[in-house]
This record gives sequence, C-alpha cells and structure tokens, in this order.
Amino acid sequence: MSLSWDFHTHSAASDGTLAPAELVSRAREAGVKRLALTDHDTLAGLPAASDAARVVGLELVPGVEISVSWQGHTVHLVGLNVDPADPTLLKGLRDLLDYRAWRAEEIGRRLERDGIPGGYEGARTFAKGELVGRTHFARFLVQQGHARDLREVFRKFLVKGKPGHVPGRWAELESALGWIHGAGGVAVIAHPARYRMTRSKLRRLLGEFRELGGEALEVVSGSHSVDDCFLMARHARDFGLAASAGSDYHGPENPWIQLGRLPELPHGCRPVTELIDRVDDGAILSGTSG
Ligand code: AMP
Ligand code: MN
Ligand code: MN
Ligand code: MN
Repeated sequence: MSLSWDFHTHSAASDGTLAPAELVSRAREAGVKRLALTDHDTLAGLPAASDAARVVGLELVPGVEISVSWQGHTVHLVGLNVDPADPTLLKGLRDLLDYRAWRAEEIGRRLERDGIPGGYEGARTFAKGELVGRTHFARFLVQQGHARDLREVFRKFLVKGKPGHVPGRWAELESALGWIHGAGGVAVIAHPARYRMTRSKLRRLLGEFRELGGEALEVVSGSHSVDDCFLMARHARDFGLAASAGSDYHGPENPWIQLGRLPELPHGCRPVTELIDRVDDGAILSGTSG
C-alpha cells in the first residue's frame, strides 16, 4: 500500500521541471489525494497549483521548503499549510531569493575562473522562474558534457571544496520557524538522513527544533533508505515530533523518485496530517465566526 498524501514536491517555480499545474495533474493520476507543493524559498507556484487542484479534485496543501544555515550545515525546513499572503513569510523568502540571485552570479564567476564560461546564462535557460539554483547549473553542465548525470556534476563542481561551490548564507533556524508559524503553518525538518551530521549533532538539531516549537520530522522521504526511515521514526518518537512523508519529486527525469509511491509510515508514528487537519479546522472556524 502507498500513502495517499505527499507533502514534499517541487515545480518549475524552483528546481522541479514540471509546471505547477502539470505536477498537480500527474500527482492526481498517480493516486495522490493530498499534495503539498514545497518549492525552495518561493511561493510563486502556489496560485497555478491551487487552480489546477480544484480542476482535478485534489487537495493542495500550500507549502514551502526554506533553506536554513545551522551550525555550518544547510538544513531544509518544509512549512506546510502556510498562508501564502503572510507578509513576514513573504519578506523572509524575498531576502532568500535576493541572496540566491547573488549566489547564482557568484557560482557563474567561480565556474568561469575554473575554465567554464557562460554558466550563469546557461543555468538561466534551465530556470523557468526567478529562482536559479544549483540544480539549474547542474543541468547545464550535464548538457555541456562536463559530467554524465546530476549526481556526478554535484560531486565534481557544486559541493564544498569544488570550483562552483559558494558557502550558503541562508535563514536562521529560529527565523524560518517564526515565518512558518507566523503564517499559520506546521514546520517539518526535511530529509533528515541527507545531512552529513553525526547522530549526536542531528539529535542536537532535533532538540533545538523542538524547543523552538517545530512540529514534525520527514520520516518517509524519496531520498531515504528503508533503514533511514526506521531510524528517523525512532528519532521522531524520542523528540515527540510528528512524522511527515514526501517524495521530494523534482520531475519525471529522475526515474528513482515517483509520485504516488510513498510507503506507509512506520508503526507508532503520529502522522503530520493530523496537525494539518487541525489547522484546516481552525481556518474554517475562524472563517465562519466572522
Ligand atoms: P540549492 O538549494 O540551489 O543549493 O540546491 C539544492 C538542490 O540541489 C536540492 O534541492 C536538490 O534538488 C539538488 N541536489 C543537491 N545535491 C544533489 C545531488 N548530489 N544530486 C542531484 N541533485 C542534488
Ligand atoms: Mn531541489
Ligand atoms: Mn531539500
Ligand atoms: Mn526538496
């Protein structure tokens, strides 16, 4: 059995390849009933996704994946059921997009110094929206034959110690949590097994996140192994966090990650959907009370 919900996906508004409406209709076809669109640092895909969701009969949860710098690591926070009109959230994301614009040019300059000209312009041609991320550089570099696939291009050019790497200066954990909560959302630590952290450092992160009011851990993720999933379920229980699940789908080009194929949460997890239901009810109640 697969889950009927998927709370972590990307559209072409960030580094996914499908337009928001196309993502929504493919998700519906794949059997997803509740879908969160969680583009990196932008809400730009939500209006089109929400229109499409109404047409195909799918429940869209407005979301975002916020880039955070924490103790020398880049950590991703998924915000679920956020109010897309919240001014503080919008301002926070605006600043991250401005930083991304500078970083994209800087990646271009660094690649140029390494003998690869035209990287910035090349990456731009792969970006459908305002945001130019490392994935767009990666697609360009693969197209130009500098590497065989995205994995290799990241390893050779875009990670720490490599020519196109720019150390991230993202949001603070506390700020990002504040934006998500201020916008009425639920905060989730995305793909926790992906961070190159020791077990004790990860547990420090989870403790701090919990202290600051963070609600959930992405136990099931397209980038987790079965073992990762069970380990993260245990961490979620230890820290009293709810469990989320998301494919981290970026488009059909990556055959390893598909829509509508997420395994059920391990036994004993409290599904994050329960918190989203409560937020929905609150919205309905406050809407009807005048
Ligand atoms: P950015 O937020 O612009 O620094 O880019 C991060 C994004 O790059 C992630 O969300 C992934 O989509 C992608 N990414 C990171 N590492 C890899 C990798 N090793 N292989 C393929 N894609 C990656
Ligand atoms: Mn991405
Ligand atoms: Mn991520
Ligand atoms: Mn993601």
